[in-house]
Amino acid sequence: MRGAHGGSGVLLRRLREVMAASISPQERLDRLVVLIAGNLVAEVCSVYVLREDGSLELYATEGLNREAVHLTTMRAGEGLVGLIAREAEPLALSDAQNHPAFSYRPETGEEIYRSFLGVPILRGGAVMGVLVIQNRASRLYSEEEIETLQTTAMIMAEMIAAGGLKSLAAPGASIGLDRPIHGIGVSLADGVGLGHAVLHEPRVAITNLIAENPAAEVQRLEAAIAQMRASIDELIERGDVAHIGEHRDVLETFRMFAHDQGWLRRMREVVLTGLTAEAAVERVQSDTRAKMLRQTDPYLRERLHDLDDLANRLLRTLVGKANGVAREELPENAILIARSMGPAALLDYDRAHLRGLVLEEGGPTSHIAIVARALGIPAVGEIVNATALIQSGDAVIVDGQAGEVQIRPQPDVENAYKDKARLRARKQEQYRKLKSQPAVTKDGVPIVLQINAGLLVDLPNLDATAAAGIGLFRTELQFMVAEHMPTTAEQQALYAAVLEQAQGRPVTFRTLDIGGDKVLPYMERIEEENPALGWRAIRIGLDRPRLLRAQVRALLRAGSGRDMKIMLPMIATVDEFQRARTIVRREQAMLEKQGHVPPLSLQLGVMVEVPSLLFELPEIVREADFLSIGTNDLMQFLFAADRENKRVADRFDPLGVGALRALRSIVEAAAEAKCPITVCGEMGGKPLETMVLIGLGYRAFSMSAASIGPVKAMLRALDAGKLAERLDWMLAAGEGSTNLRPQLAAFATEFKVPV
Ligand code: PEP
Ligand code: MG
Repeated sequence: MRGAHGGSGVLLRRLREVMAASISPQERLDRLVVLIAGNLVAEVCSVYVLREDGSLELYATEGLNREAVHLTTMRAGEGLVGLIAREAEPLALSDAQNHPAFSYRPETGEEIYRSFLGVPILRGGAVMGVLVIQNRASRLYSEEEIETLQTTAMIMAEMIAAGGLKSLAAPGASIGLDRPIHGIGVSLADGVGLGHAVLHEPRVAITNLIAENPAAEVQRLEAAIAQMRASIDELIERGDVAHIGEHRDVLETFRMFAHDQGWLRRMREVVLTGLTAEAAVERVQSDTRAKMLRQTDPYLRERLHDLDDLANRLLRTLVGKANGVAREELPENAILIARSMGPAALLDYDRAHLRGLVLEEGGPTSHIAIVARALGIPAVGEIVNATALIQSGDAVIVDGQAGEVQIRPQPDVENAYKDKARLRARKQEQYRKLKSQPAVTKDGVPIVLQINAGLLVDLPNLDATAAAGIGLFRTELQFMVAEHMPTTAEQQALYAAVLEQAQGRPVTFRTLDIGGDKVLPYMERIEEENPALGWRAIRIGLDRPRLLRAQVRALLRAGSGRDMKIMLPMIATVDEFQRARTIVRREQAMLEKQGHVPPLSLQLGVMVEVPSLLFELPEIVREADFLSIGTNDLMQFLFAADRENKRVADRFDPLGVGALRALRSIVEAAAEAKCPITVCGEMGGKPLETMVLIGLGYRAFSMSAASIGPVKAMLRALDAGKLAERLDWMLAAGEGSTNLRPQLAAFATEFKVPV
């Protein structure tokens, strides 16, 4: 059956006339509903607009009682209209009154209509309202009618978004375009930031929605698809994908989707309804985004993301914007909003203006999170559809501590966060005051506090925290943010700059810790079943000695005439350490033979992060010049719990008897052999955990710069001797729960140690 009079092309042309007419917004809406009802041979056509409180208000109707306009509202989720708004899916019923969600509104007089077709008014995946047609007779609406109504809804969405309907809102109610949203994601970098949204890749604005010449639009779409495919082929063939931060596999999947027949057919169909090519792409993209919002399966969500990306590429081609948008000047107090972002892209922005970062993707150990932490930018990841829900310029609050985002917050919420930010600032002020105080416990035990670093942007943190040095310099970060493999000369230049800026404070450089989750985009990716247990860190260094040798050469040259400390990651056996040491010594001898001035001294240390080393302690403390405990990996391997896997990462407490005994055995073995030992994993930056490590006998820590203040405040209030006694007793007791956290927290409370 074909219900539409003259097809959607005619309808769209007439809609355009109404849109262009100089009439009031209400008149425009009234004419639109008449037009739609007439074209779709429906007795009723009504528009409901989503209000800030989540309810839907009747804004215009043809066929229902006009008196009900701006009076009838449906609560969020109420009735068929509420259901469509919630599900963001069309709903076609031949017997609406028998649907369980039907809600009878006497003032509208709709009880006589049996058939019902409603579609969400979507923009960028966000629901803005619902468009409905109804018929007296029981009838089935055709696919074509549903399609036409959806296309019309898209035009309404633009009208709502353009702000034309704001003046129609009932007193005290404003439309949901600007409604506040509380987004819950995951914390990537601590801190609270208030500011205004800047989209990393701004939405492509479409001004021309209705086609003048549908045949020409089909051709434009086809040409854009061909161009998009060619550009993806070119990216893959060039074999250099680093500059867009995506990996080759991702691009291959991309290429597959660029040929996805279902997706392409949908866009062609929509163009044939009378929209311009770009409007058709956006229509389909909006549906995809609405699905993405509701999709819980991470695999399928990822696939929808791919389609979303492709749609963006098509849109840019169609409206003549280059892919990869030029950086505009950042406003003061910018909150950057992105789907995902490579670490290098973040460094392109002016740090002084950045107050926060919101990502749709990105886990806590992602590279972008590492860089955000290094820069001290509060960041939250996994905010679904953030780029669609947030408009450029919107007020946004990033709560990096809770992993939450407030979008267009109400004044009371904003004030609460301002208070929170002030409180943090006051605490920071207290920590700053502690800066000049020595890191000594209450009972006089000196503790060495150093910072972790990996990029030059970290170096100012040395002065800012008055840290004793850099206890862990993650050299892989330079490799991860680069677009190509850094040359030996580039590596040397970075290391020399780090030593220069450290001004005599010790720096411990860790050799490349890549593999596992740390992937270099320009290096061939090797598929492994268990990458964390796979070919990574020193294993690559030993198997590909050229890479390790080049790095060691760069380090030794940079350290010419200075004291140098180098440590090796993921050492599993003493034998591995000895082999790596041979490589280092050979490089050293070679440089000296070539007449280079060697470092004043060279200490070669071992990261303790693989439990097997705990059973070679007597040997390793004799062989290594120093040890540094990487608690992140050590705990992951000790408990066989993937640090990247949210389901298990926090399942086992390092303040349990098992982990603490392991940590005690290491510090005791090191003390006996007078082998210096440091803790450089995250455990050594949390006040309660660091307190316990001091109790076990650890005296040196390296941590993120932000942790220095809280840890110093803790240790200056701590009686280390008393805690050591208490811990001996707790670890020997063997009664009750083996998780000692509650007892240790109680100790801190009892002795007023701030943790
Ligand atoms: C660790 O494993 O604790 C560590 C410090 O190294 P990374 O976090 O870089 O693996
Ligand atoms: Mg590690």
